[in-house]
Amino acid sequence: MFGLFGKKEENKTNACDLKFLCWQCEMSAPGGCGSHGESKGVCGKDSTKSRLQDLMTYGLRGLSAYREHARELIDMNNPDERAILTEIDDVIAETLYFTLTNVNFNFDEHIAQLMKVGNAGVKVMDLLSEAHTKALGIPAPVEVTQNKAEGKGILVSGHNLDMLEKLLKRIEERGLSDKINVYTHSEMLPAHGYPHLKKFKNLKGNIGKAWFDQTDIFSKWNGTCVVNTNCIVPPEKSPKVKNYIDRLYTYKIVGIEGAKKIENDNFDPLIDQTLELPDITGFDSDEKLVTGHHYKTVLDAYGAKVLDAIKEGKLKRVWVIAGCDAPGKKRDYFRELALAVPKDHIIITSSCGKFRFNDVDFGTVPGTDIPRYIDLGQCNDSNGAVHIALAVANALGVEDVNDLPVSIALLWMEQKAIIILLALLSLGIKDILIGPNAPQFADEAIVNFLVENFNFGVISGDIHKDFGKELAS
Ligand code: SF4
Ligand code: SF4
Repeated sequence: MFGLFGKKEENKTNACDLKFLCWQCEMSAPGGCGSHGESKGVCGKDSTKSRLQDLMTYGLRGLSAYREHARELIDMNNPDERAILTEIDDVIAETLYFTLTNVNFNFDEHIAQLMKVGNAGVKVMDLLSEAHTKALGIPAPVEVTQNKAEGKGILVSGHNLDMLEKLLKRIEERGLSDKINVYTHSEMLPAHGYPHLKKFKNLKGNIGKAWFDQTDIFSKWNGTCVVNTNCIVPPEKSPKVKNYIDRLYTYKIVGIEGAKKIENDNFDPLIDQTLELPDITGFDSDEKLVTGHHYKTVLDAYGAKVLDAIKEGKLKRVWVIAGCDAPGKKRDYFRELALAVPKDHIIITSSCGKFRFNDVDFGTVPGTDIPRYIDLGQCNDSNGAVHIALAVANALGVEDVNDLPVSIALLWMEQKAIIILLALLSLGIKDILIGPNAPQFADEAIVNFLVENFNFGVISGDIHKDFGKELAS
């Protein structure tokens, strides 16, 4: 039904048609099992199961990122929070064990294990979301300046809100809040909605868009820059990194050659260098962005209004257009889709894919004050869309959340998107279209399973072909 294999066919340029690659054990064929076009390894593992095991480990990578952030924030003396963390850790360990040589050769049990990973993804996003709101307060919608900066400046990119709070506190402790301004980049944008971060008057605004514009933005930025989680661009990828490597700091697990590491939460070297650098110039735009629609905020502020608007026929459909941004024209599809969404529909988004269309003023649903653009936050806040859908289904007496007028288009790039997708599938969410490209780890058997069980697909590149009916509804 969907052109899942279109790109794969185009890309088939190698003499050998690689069906899988596994070289994890001594029994491996020379160069790795599958490296010469075989569809089965020496142990008997076939290419589909090998790919499903790859998918498991990709999901675990995304899961581990959220698990780490949750661990930084939760109270380990709280038995409930500790129990959830232990449950997640058990799934990580069990799933890694599952992928060992000669453990499991059963397709259905591979799917069941993937659903376990997805379920752990649901739990970790809820845990992290709770930890964020407990530590930083429940976000409120806020308008943020975009590409406007002054004074000495630190530009923070990544996802780690805890690190941002620690930095702001240290600047305050040193009596430098009037001298150093802090700005967000990419997935740090939602920081502005959190009350305990917003109270710092030197947390000023946002600069740039999604992670990959960092080489241009950091090159132009004459203050210091911090990347506190994944989605850093290394010098191996771009020569522009040398323009700012002496002003670039990384945090915890993040690292590239030549950048300085913030050790043991000591922000003083970063602050000291910022003071030595000239004031920021070249960022004086009048643009504004809106963020801060955590799902708790949405349910609290708009829950009853949304239900009324649905019942009165003023709100006809909810679109979830969310996920990772990456370079390339193909992702313009998601902007085109957002712009084509009718006025009596709303758009829920999260993650850095929102930068494809968050410059647009989508206004409110006619006859209501419900905003048509709702930014739930970072990628880990994607659980908010499910919470909103479940609350609406419950209030309307709709048994299956898939029966709600919801359309889902997800941008994917890396493994956090994979754990989010597995989480949605584990909740039984259907009719998801992802893009812009088909995952190369999926083969025909995996695709057939996803299509038959979840009506899952990949965007065609034509919004009317994919969503014509929904856009006209
Ligand atoms: S686990 Fe199986 S497929 Fe993987 S390298 Fe060993 S023999 Fe080959
Ligand atoms: S949403 Fe995805 S691509 Fe974007 S910064 Fe986060 S992890 Fe990276």
